[in-house]
Amino acid sequence: MSKKYVIGLDLGTTSAKAVLFTYDGHVVTDVEETYPLHHPHPSWAEQNPDQIVQAAEKVLGHIVTRYPADDILAVGLSSAMHSLICVDQDGKALSPSIIWADGRSQAQTEEIKTHAKDIYIQTGTPIHPMSPLTKLKWMKDNHYEPYMKAHKFLSIKEYLLWQWFGRTDVDYAIASATGLFDVHRLTWSSEALNIAGISEEQLSRPVSPTHTYQGLQSDVARKIGLPLDLPIVIGSSDGPLANLGNGAITDGDVAMTVGTSGAIRRFASQPHVDALQETFCYAFTEDKWILGGPTNNGGIVLRWLKELLGEQEVQLAEEKGLSPYDLLTKLAADVPAGAENLLFLPYLNGERAPIWDAQAKGSFIGLTLRHQKAHMVRAGLEGVIFSLYHVAQSLERLSGRSNHIYASGGFARSHLWLQILADVFEQEVKVPESHQSSAWGAAWLAMMALGEAPSLEAIKAFIPMRVSCSPNHEQHQTYKRLYPIYEQAVKALQPSFQALHQSEHEV
Ligand code: ADP
Repeated sequence: MSKKYVIGLDLGTTSAKAVLFTYDGHVVTDVEETYPLHHPHPSWAEQNPDQIVQAAEKVLGHIVTRYPADDILAVGLSSAMHSLICVDQDGKALSPSIIWADGRSQAQTEEIKTHAKDIYIQTGTPIHPMSPLTKLKWMKDNHYEPYMKAHKFLSIKEYLLWQWFGRTDVDYAIASATGLFDVHRLTWSSEALNIAGISEEQLSRPVSPTHTYQGLQSDVARKIGLPLDLPIVIGSSDGPLANLGNGAITDGDVAMTVGTSGAIRRFASQPHVDALQETFCYAFTEDKWILGGPTNNGGIVLRWLKELLGEQEVQLAEEKGLSPYDLLTKLAADVPAGAENLLFLPYLNGERAPIWDAQAKGSFIGLTLRHQKAHMVRAGLEGVIFSLYHVAQSLERLSGRSNHIYASGGFARSHLWLQILADVFEQEVKVPESHQSSAWGAAWLAMMALGEAPSLEAIKAFIPMRVSCSPNHEQHQTYKRLYPIYEQAVKALQPSFQALHQSEHEV
């Protein structure tokens, strides 16, 4: 019998989401189940892996109670990167899932950067507390009991696959995100394993993202209500899948996702590892890699401005049932591009790409008596885009000029913010209709694995776009003049950020 639907299952940081799609990318239904994040110490970030598996089973179960499982072709998987779980022989978790936001391995990060910085050239993963490499070294240095007893070290998706199929494989992108994977040879790196103090047998077998499983454990199948032979396709991590699901798949396409934080990513047909270590390079398939940079400061900047300066707008928005963000961006739209020469360095939350400086701070530069609240909001929006442009410069150095931008995340709700993006980059910006890009990317891979989609690139015909925004030449000239001043200010102020950080720790 021919099938009608395909499911993308996305294991995110805050929730599991199952999205039922028709083959042409139309969302039929989606179901979400949240799970908590625990901070047993201020810088730690942990989750219960069994809660995540249960959430995944629950959302899939919900879909099959409403749509016949016989109509479903397959499930494609997506998950957040950098999670780490110590498990025993039977696949039982010995530790929580330690997620990307966990900062416990700061000292190990510094040590690896000092003694084995070049490991990055092999792995393409910035040396950072987010990565399992530094977490494993922390475990080793601290004689962490689950590490000492572990039979295997898994990410959350591998953990789920072990519960469902009793096997452990890992797709190239999730393997890459561990910081232990050689992106050039698509094998585990013995140098990295050495630093982590673990053996290759303690990791899963790397496989391509179309790797398919059948033969769900019968108790799991019964619990969810899925047929035993429903194909489950391993998929990839949420970053490259968001590019795929947004249509940013061919050379020169760049995806920008800006929610609270942000990322800019593009595919390349070779691994490009940045000698300056400003960007990441993760393997996706045997012949595609994803390059990019994550930023800590996206929508959080506007949220901060709203909390600091937006009391009036918040109140008015409540009275009128509007979004306070819309009122603030409306205010900013009345100020000319460049906010009358007011710049904002958006590093409220330290920064990852491109400066990788946890001590970086936010700064307004160029304040005068004529600047008002609206200027500060506009400069905030522009600062976020300048910082993305800064990352994009590193990517262009590695893989050539980009020509199309695909935007998604909370910032894409603002026409002004999209216009600033188009004007700074002097490029067309497209915004897809659906917010479920990672799930659609995962579902598309499942269709490819089962012969229902011809190629990665063919997805472009099945992504309806919501808006598209063209650059304004005059405004671009303003940004072209201001950007070098912004970049110079970033460089000039880094020693001051450092000094302020030291001062903070001396009092
Ligand atoms: P998350 O990254 O937490 O999943 P979102 O993708 O929804 O969240 O992004 C949230 C951010 O999007 C907010 O902090 C805010 O800066 C921005 N945002 C939300 N709505 C708007 C809007 N109408 N205009 C401009 N920015 C908005």
